[in-house]
Amino acid sequence: MGGILIFFAAVVYWREVQDQLRSLDQDLYAKSKAIAAASDYQFEQNQWQVDLANAEAVSYLRWYDAKGNLRQFTGVPPVESPVVGFETIAPDSRQVTLPVYRNMVAGAPSDRVLIGYLQVGVSIAPVQERLQQTQLFLAIGVPVTLGAIGLVGWWLGGLAMQPIRRSYDQLQRFTADASHELRAPLAAIQSNAQVGLLAPSEDTTQPRQRLDKIVELTKLMNGLVSNLLFLARQEGQLTPDALKTLDLVALLQPLAEEYAEIAAAAELRFSIDLYPSPILFRADADLLQQAVRNLLDNAIKYTPAAGALEFQLTAQARRIVIRVTDNGIGIPAADLPHIFDRFYRVDQARTRQTGGFGLGLAIAQQIIRAHGGQITVSSVLGQGSTFAIELPLKA
Ligand code: ADP
Repeated sequence: MGGILIFFAAVVYWREVQDQLRSLDQDLYAKSKAIAAASDYQFEQNQWQVDLANAEAVSYLRWYDAKGNLRQFTGVPPVESPVVGFETIAPDSRQVTLPVYRNMVAGAPSDRVLIGYLQVGVSIAPVQERLQQTQLFLAIGVPVTLGAIGLVGWWLGGLAMQPIRRSYDQLQRFTADASHELRAPLAAIQSNAQVGLLAPSEDTTQPRQRLDKIVELTKLMNGLVSNLLFLARQEGQLTPDALKTLDLVALLQPLAEEYAEIAAAAELRFSIDLYPSPILFRADADLLQQAVRNLLDNAIKYTPAAGALEFQLTAQARRIVIRVTDNGIGIPAADLPHIFDRFYRVDQARTRQTGGFGLGLAIAQQIIRAHGGQITVSSVLGQGSTFAIELPLKA
């Protein structure tokens, strides 16, 4: 930008110099023509003489004979011999030298003879002054503009960097959280192996228990790694190939029945309210089921025995809503804005007991967003929660 600006300023200055010089030359030429026309030429002592009385509006007037020898002048005498045309003479004069012809035979314009050269000079001080003003304007304007561009660029650069910095921070946090989550089961596996299996023990039941624990921990880690991979792979929108037009009612009916059984085993009431007719929607069936499963798993996990769950699928003019409601433990208002964040758990100790890593809702949200929808939550601590998946219904 600085280079462009300086180049632009140089072009502006060069154009200004050209313009000023052109108008000075036009003015000088007009004056010289007028002087040449108004002057009186006499042939005396074998040479042409001219009266140099019309020199008021100019710096100097000079008369040269046809051979270029100086014959008369006003002001300072010249240093160099004349050159026909315009010239800038140091330190501050611009001059023009015009050939002067005379008709030697009256009435025969073609019979013209060069009788000498008239040289007219004017001061270029006013032009220099105007150019100095332009220089001053550019000398102040260019650095100020450069400074302003620099500041705006710096500010815009900062703005543009914000999302990059945010996603970089997110990535760092995600990696740190993931490593942290993996470290706990790994440490437990290590201690089970070292203490229970490698150290000599009289108790024969211990190795078996330790092995069971190791298997359980490995499953947990497997689940975590699958979830992490899932989050990493499913970033962004789904490709059109992955989407199929399917009936949501038919897709969710078996899921509802499956969870009715799980809820019954956990001593929970489970009511199902599905839209009575098919709802066609373009979706990735497995992913959509996964999102709904995550909500249903949570509803079961966070609702104590004898509680009630409701699974609902409704269709409105422009949207489909899948709602999972429970009357379980609920979520504190302060945690609500964060529960869709990766690795966010309301109560670390309790969710660890239930085997959660705080990824279920993040995964569900990622899936629903990839389908163009959104998940919302409303919850009252101690009274229960409602998670609603809203999907856009096209005509
Ligand atoms: P987790 O695997 O720990 O359950 P989620 O991402 O599924 O992770 O949920 C994040 C947190 O939101 C959970 O730790 C839990 O505290 C809270 N939560 C989610 N669903 C419910 C619910 N239905 N009732 C109460 N709390 C819930």
